[in-house]
Parts: sequence; structure tokens; C-alpha cells
Amino acid sequence: MTQQKPWELQGCVICRRMWEIGEGLPELAANAERHARLTQCEACGAFWEEFERYAVEIPPADAQRYYPEYFQKMRGHNTS
Ligand SMILES: [Zn+2]
Repeated sequence: MTQQKPWELQGCVICRRMWEIGEGLPELAANAERHARLTQCEACGAFWEEFERYAVEIPPADAQRYYPEYFQKMRGHNTS
């Protein structure tokens, strides 16, 4: 298991609040193997991975590794 930041250091007050009230953030991509979804806070830009029962902030490098298709889509405009 990777070391996880304390809750109060993940994302910002805005995105933490969205998880706390159960609203969550809009889905950017899904990873069926991980049973998780990638989301991003519009306020602070933090990536979050949402699992069935909890969400955790993940570094951009992890977001790119687990959800490469989302980042390919974002880059597609320039390369193709
Ligand atoms: Zn945030």
C-alpha cells in the first residue's frame, strides 16, 4: 500500500467538501480493473480516484498511468 496523505492535506476545501457531502466530482474516466473512476477538482486541479466507498487524491503521474486514455484524448488535438 502506498502512503496516503492525511485527509486534510488532500485536494482543497472545495473538493474535500464535495466528497464529505457525498456529491463527488464529475467523472473523467473509469478503470474497470481498479473498480475506480478518475475525477478532478476544478478549483485546485487535484486528481482524485474514486472507489466504491471512498475517494483519495492521486498524483498526476498515477492518474496518467491508470487512466492513459483520458490523457491521450486531451493530447489528441495537437498530435493527430
Ligand atoms: Zn480541490
